[in-house]
Amino acid sequence: MAPPIRDSVGDAVGDTPVVRLRKSGASEKIELLAKLEFNNPGGSIKDRVARRILSRLAREQKLKDSTVLVVPSSGNLVLSLALQVPRYVPHGRVIGLVPERTSEDRIRLLKSLGVDIVRTPVEAHADSPESKFSLAKKITADLPDAILINEYADIDNVRTHAEETAEEILEQTEGKLDILVVGAETGGTISGLAKTLKAKIPGLKVIGVEPEHSSIRDNVTRSGVWRVEDMGSNFTPSILDQSLVDKWLQIPDQVSYSTARLLIKHEGLLCGPSSGGVVAAALHYADEALEVASSDVSKLRVLTILNDTARNYTSTLMSDDWLLEHDLMDATLARAAAYHRHEKYRAASVEDLQLPAAVTIPPTATVGYAMDLMMTREFSQLPVIHPTNRKLMGYISQTTLTNLLEEGQAHDDDQVSKWMYSFVKKQPGLATPSKYVTITPLTPLAELAQFFEKHSFAVVTDEDRRWCLGVATKYDLMTFLNRRQSSGRAF
Ligand code: PMP
Repeated sequence: MAPPIRDSVGDAVGDTPVVRLRKSGASEKIELLAKLEFNNPGGSIKDRVARRILSRLAREQKLKDSTVLVVPSSGNLVLSLALQVPRYVPHGRVIGLVPERTSEDRIRLLKSLGVDIVRTPVEAHADSPESKFSLAKKITADLPDAILINEYADIDNVRTHAEETAEEILEQTEGKLDILVVGAETGGTISGLAKTLKAKIPGLKVIGVEPEHSSIRDNVTRSGVWRVEDMGSNFTPSILDQSLVDKWLQIPDQVSYSTARLLIKHEGLLCGPSSGGVVAAALHYADEALEVASSDVSKLRVLTILNDTARNYTSTLMSDDWLLEHDLMDATLARAAAYHRHEKYRAASVEDLQLPAAVTIPPTATVGYAMDLMMTREFSQLPVIHPTNRKLMGYISQTTLTNLLEEGQAHDDDQVSKWMYSFVKKQPGLATPSKYVTITPLTPLAELAQFFEKHSFAVVTDEDRRWCLGVATKYDLMTFLNRRQSSGRAF
């Protein structure tokens, strides 16, 4: 049944799906499930906590027009509060105290929601004056009508999951579950879920996941930092109920990021890096549990909670360059990236594309002639060549000319020189301007492929850019790869 019309985005929070993971490498004796918390309107599980905290504040009549919410959080709760606060306070302000590791993507989202952002050092211990907690306390004390929202100590963070998320899980799994694997930062999710689910499902094992160097499990001060956002903490939060956690696993950043990328590619799950860590931990723990289980165990059912969306991380998790720069790709992922960047074009260069001789026009040709030529030969663009010295001057594009003709700016009998894009001239004694990339027959196809990440076509010239030798498009590159593949050359 389709959900009914909701009055606000806060009412659309929750009821997230559970899906079976089929390509994650789990053994046949493991049924690996994932609850997709990134399906919430704000892209994370924290939408649930924000809803509960806001409705409590409203009930207690603490929200006024001038209210400022001061939120020390790794980012998701700030986002969720900012999304939902207009329902209660039309011009409510949110100040987020966000660690330096929080990705630029999420900061942009927060800014678009009008959140004031204060960055805090990741290493700062909770008690130190520069920590997000100390700063938040100070800001709250200084501002009239400010309310501090501390999810690390707020019991509603636990109740949300004990009463809402856990009930959904019970319904969705029909109470059949062997292992629950949850990432932790404030400890709210794991404590709430474990409280309800352990009471209802005898024998359920609850596994907590934190990054390597985090101190949630033992409160031991460590100097290490980690990159996975929203998971891990350098102290044990007060709302965490350790007695409900059967085992803690520490996951290296490289494993979390690489697993998240596999989940995105192979399962189509647009989840963030902490979800990668949780699934990696689940596979590890379930394999171990199977080894020690008696042979009559037919199958272990494991539920993971995937907390937030990959869209929070387009400049980090989704960027091969960023992952390589920070050594966050495991060998399998690095091999796949190298294959796509270089090896599939191995040893081939532009001349292997066997481009037809370039069809060019002089700058004095008319727009009408150029349009006819492009239509009949099915070209999207044509290089413009100097009529006497045959040098490449620029190019015209069919789309641009069509628009200009439709707008009545260009006319059929105009000379194309009036509407061509001219290439930035190479100045004697100066390096080629960075805007112009010279593509010659000897340019490796791997380089051409990179060029096509930003451009739709390439004019192929000699080294000095004197002669136009052809025009290449991504289509030529794809045809070449198909040809090579079907001629049976392994690569
Ligand atoms: N992963 C992500 C993406 C999160 O946003 C959070 C919450 N900060 C967690 C894991 C950990 O959840 P909790 O705070 O309930 O321990």
